Amino acid sequence: MATDIIVLGGGSAGYAAALRAAELGKQVVLIERDKVGGTCLHRGCVPTKALLHVAEVVDTVGEAASVGVRATLESVDVEAMQAFRRGIVAKKHKGLEGLLAARKITVVVGDGRLEQPGRVRVGDEVFEAPDVIVATGARTRDLPGVTTGGRVLTSETALELDEIPARVVVLGGGVIGVEFASMWRSLGADVTVVEALPSLVPNEDETLRKGLERAFRKRGIIARIGTRVASVAQTDTEVTVTLEDDSVLTADYVLVAIGRVPAIDGIGLEEAGVGVERGFVVVDEQLRTAAPGVWAVGDIVAGPQLAHRGFQHGIFVAEQIAGTNPTAVPDENVPRITYSQPELAAVGLTKAQAEERFGADAVAVVDYNLAGNARSEILGTAGSVRVVRRVDGPVVGVHMIGSRVGELITEAQLIIGWEAHPEDVKPFLHAHPTQSEALGEALLALAGSPLHTL
Ligand SMILES: Cc1cc2nc3c(=O)[nH]c(=O)nc-3n(C[C@H](O)[C@H](O)[C@H](O)COP(=O)(O)OP(=O)(O)OC[C@H]3O[C@@H](n4cnc5c(N)ncnc54)[C@H](O)[C@@H]3O)c2cc1C
Repeated sequence: MATDIIVLGGGSAGYAAALRAAELGKQVVLIERDKVGGTCLHRGCVPTKALLHVAEVVDTVGEAASVGVRATLESVDVEAMQAFRRGIVAKKHKGLEGLLAARKITVVVGDGRLEQPGRVRVGDEVFEAPDVIVATGARTRDLPGVTTGGRVLTSETALELDEIPARVVVLGGGVIGVEFASMWRSLGADVTVVEALPSLVPNEDETLRKGLERAFRKRGIIARIGTRVASVAQTDTEVTVTLEDDSVLTADYVLVAIGRVPAIDGIGLEEAGVGVERGFVVVDEQLRTAAPGVWAVGDIVAGPQLAHRGFQHGIFVAEQIAGTNPTAVPDENVPRITYSQPELAAVGLTKAQAEERFGADAVAVVDYNLAGNARSEILGTAGSVRVVRRVDGPVVGVHMIGSRVGELITEAQLIIGWEAHPEDVKPFLHAHPTQSEALGEALLALAGSPLHTL
């Protein structure tokens, strides 16, 4: 079958490319081996956030007495909790299928393989198009010597767990590990996070790293940082994790969350002339691969593995194929949120990165403590907002920690994306009382006109 565009993989990046291309008048064939929506909808962003919401409700009940509400938590009905998660995913999946059908996108269910540029095979069927967009996503990175299965979980099997573990060890203190740790702790588990690097969420600004470690310590989550795993062994009833310092942890389950690697094995990329480096597809700034007419989007391209970056990649490539002249937000300005308790939200450069790039004297930083923010006080959250600017120049980084701060990241993204100076933003208002005022106060202070700070 001949068409205008073939999209291989129907996750965030692939379906976004398909929708935008169809909107721009292109005929699109979207090949998906499993379910459209991919990792994010079925095994990632959406189901984890559904379970984290359950965790938040549990926390709210637990803290009710502090605001004068007498409530006791009877129990968490795991079956009902899982039905809630599945229900949310099913609704969004149905909506997406409807959208793809309404845009007249041909969805082919099956395993696609790039036979050559412009030609993709699915079983006995061959599809041809001048442009092929590869969007096959990523899978859990294996820990050498550790076989997953049984009591050794990946994020996928962890989501499906039909019990709340009493003791759990999370291997990996990145965003996925931290979110599961936070969720299980709220649901009552004893949680230990093991991270080889010297801190949790090691790529974030120091305020977030230290703030999260402090908050986790307060919540009774044990962080074993700067420690590597030597071995993992399981029996029918428990798992034993031995660390390189010879300490031994026992738990009901272990989650392996040490990162995600592109799912590109055996789909014909290198044979078709697509470059691959350290497991990632090599692309130019336009997201073109070395093979003519073959583009790559989403988690298979090195950079932050986030759904909204995938959406943007998909839209960006579809628009280029359709002949418009789109611009893309650079990777370092992609907003990122860790939906733990407390939440972390960041965009742009950390203080350390800004100082390295521009020189320590050329960077100014304001930290605003959420203790000064009325809405945060009402919500009972500690936390902070850090804004990093170039001296006499634009804001280059915003880093926030505290309940619900994820919802504040969009304003920060606009400020950084538009290269606004704090002085440009100063005249704009933040409704009172909102947590967004904390960002406003930090910007006012950076512009030299602090209001509620000294
Ligand atoms: C536990 C977890 C939580 C996450 N939480 C968040 C979050 O809160 N926010 C966020 O932004 N990101 C989150 N992510 C990351 C997000 O899910 C990914 O960045 C996003 O899904 C990447 O989109 P993609 O289209 O590149 O790949 P995917 O979503 O993985 O989609 C790839 C699709 O291609 C299909 N496919 C693969 N090979 C073939 C083939 N040969 N033929 C046909 N089909 C094929 C797959 O079945 C899959 O559906 C999370 C990830 C995980 C694992």
